[in-house]
Amino acid sequence: MDNNNIKKIGIFGGSFNPIHRGHIEMANFAIEKLNLDRLYLVPVGTPSHRSDTNFASGSDRMAMVKLACSNNKKLYHCNYEITSEKVSYTYDTLLKIAENHPDSLIYEIIGEDSAEHLTSWENYREMIDLCEFVFFKRKGYCSTTNGLLTIEAPLFNISSTLVRAKVKNKESLENYITQEVEEYIREHNLYR
Ligand code: ATP
Repeated sequence: MDNNNIKKIGIFGGSFNPIHRGHIEMANFAIEKLNLDRLYLVPVGTPSHRSDTNFASGSDRMAMVKLACSNNKKLYHCNYEITSEKVSYTYDTLLKIAENHPDSLIYEIIGEDSAEHLTSWENYREMIDLCEFVFFKRKGYCSTTNGLLTIEAPLFNISSTLVRAKVKNKESLENYITQEVEEYIREHNLYR
């Protein structure tokens, strides 16, 4: 799609360690509800203190994100944060995407747990001028939604923590991650 025809863009960041069906459902729900032309999945960079086996490398997390969005024409991966040599803030990513799409409306999609800390995000005030925050409900969380566009999405009771535990315990992952991501985890011996 030509950049000029992209009117509405979503940005959805996360560890994606690994990406699971909850993330994908949430992304698809946002695409539908907000009528997005494109949604970028942005895996965060690997914090220097995370060298444990529970936190997969940036290249593994990105590979799984790519696999998970390969069948969806509106889902794109964004490697800005993974490839950044310094700590990369959501604001930096937003700025770059806004520069690449100067005529598009941008929605920053966040889960309820992340929304709790929103006002302390780096450059929060500047971000308000560049995007609209969209806040997704998440099971187990209950918070107020002051001034935020809120989407009452169906609740997906999945987390990456649960997926990693299931990998470790050799339990079925069928309802939690896509088959391609499951194969990737197995082939690369992740989360053991
Ligand atoms: P972990 O269990 O390792 O903390 P996670 O499942 O929360 O991981 P993240 O990659 O940290 O996954 O999440 C990225 C974003 O997606 C966050 O804003 C989070 O709130 C949201 N999110 C993740 N899973 C769900 C879900 N099942 N329902 C709603 N929001 C979700």
